[in-house]
Amino acid sequence: MKTQNGLDVQLIVENIKGVLPKDKEFIALHEPVFKGNDWEYVKECLDTGWVSSVGKYVDRFEEMLAEFTGVRYAVATVNGTAALHIAIKLVGVEQGDEVLVQTITFIATANAVMYCGAIPHFIDIEERTLGTDPFKLASYLDEIAEIRGGHCFNKVTGRRIKAVVPMHTFGHPVDLDPLVEVCEKFKIALVEDAAESLGSYYKRKHTGNWGKVATLSFNGNKVVTTGGGGAILTNDADIAKLAKHLTTTAKVPHAWEYAHDQVGYNYRLPNINAALGCAQLEQLPSVIERKRELAKRYQQAFQKIKSVSIMVESEFAKSNYWLNALILDREYEGERDHLLQALNNQGIMSRPLWNPMHSLPMYAQCPKMNLDVAESLNKRVINIPSGSQLGDIYV
Ligand SMILES: *Cc1c(COP(=O)(O)O)cnc(C)c1O
Repeated sequence: MKTQNGLDVQLIVENIKGVLPKDKEFIALHEPVFKGNDWEYVKECLDTGWVSSVGKYVDRFEEMLAEFTGVRYAVATVNGTAALHIAIKLVGVEQGDEVLVQTITFIATANAVMYCGAIPHFIDIEERTLGTDPFKLASYLDEIAEIRGGHCFNKVTGRRIKAVVPMHTFGHPVDLDPLVEVCEKFKIALVEDAAESLGSYYKRKHTGNWGKVATLSFNGNKVVTTGGGGAILTNDADIAKLAKHLTTTAKVPHAWEYAHDQVGYNYRLPNINAALGCAQLEQLPSVIERKRELAKRYQQAFQKIKSVSIMVESEFAKSNYWLNALILDREYEGERDHLLQALNNQGIMSRPLWNPMHSLPMYAQCPKMNLDVAESLNKRVINIPSGSQLGDIYV
């Protein structure tokens, strides 16, 4: 079947099918895989009664995260959104500040800015990473920003621009070095939303090491899962301490007294979730190996297909390929939904990009730069099944 514009939808569907198991009627976009010590560690929590806010697995999970990412400190949280909320607070974002957020991201990134009483200011992405475009941002800030008293102000709104939250879309790292330069020039704090990029590297160093703070998510659809969960990463000991304090109701340690020194949050990760997280992290290297294998198979299947391409990692990156993305050429901007319809009808779960943040009712009035690249990609990108079990050697 070809669309009016000449896009061969069925050819694309067949090529995707060629990579996937033949004996399944439905293939999900991303399924968790439970192997290894998952059952044993969770059972131990049940057997001993240590299921909730105290127990050894939270500490162990945090240590394992720090070790794997190379970031000095990790603080586990109840989910990735909570981690983002606290991370943005930790870099000093307050009521009435502006925070730069790429318009193509999961809703949590923009919501977390609002939880701090601040205003998201939407910025464009680049096609090769689907993440924040540091070069376009630099020339935009040259135009609209000024430094006064060591702080960055938006000349148009008069508000302070305090932070930028790049997001490593589908596990593909943003071009971080030039972004760090922009942040230094304009005195803007960098917070990496690394929810999708556990196991992804920028210039051989794990994502999450560039920002003052970074966040992870362990939701059921992420590379590894704790059921629900997240983490705050930082190389700064004081920030790590404050992150722990704020996420554990700001309780002052004491043998019996309920003393709290500020308004804190009950954002800590329960021990039973951390137990599952420890077991899942043990399997992370093999999960990533299989995800990269699956990505390679998709890339091979589409090597000779015109009008579409499979997203590949940039030369500066090693991606975990959390979700594989198929990108239609520009001339097929109107054809995305035909392809989504055909794939979903044939049991291959596929999804478009998130609706751009600036198109949502609660964010429509927020400041924004020219968002042409995001708007075009929004009409051309779809995600295709990417669970690590699909990368097994034996499918
Ligand atoms: C998954 C995700 C989060 C956090 O989600 P939670 O479900 O709260 O753990 C944040 N940002 C992005 C980009 C995500 O993909």
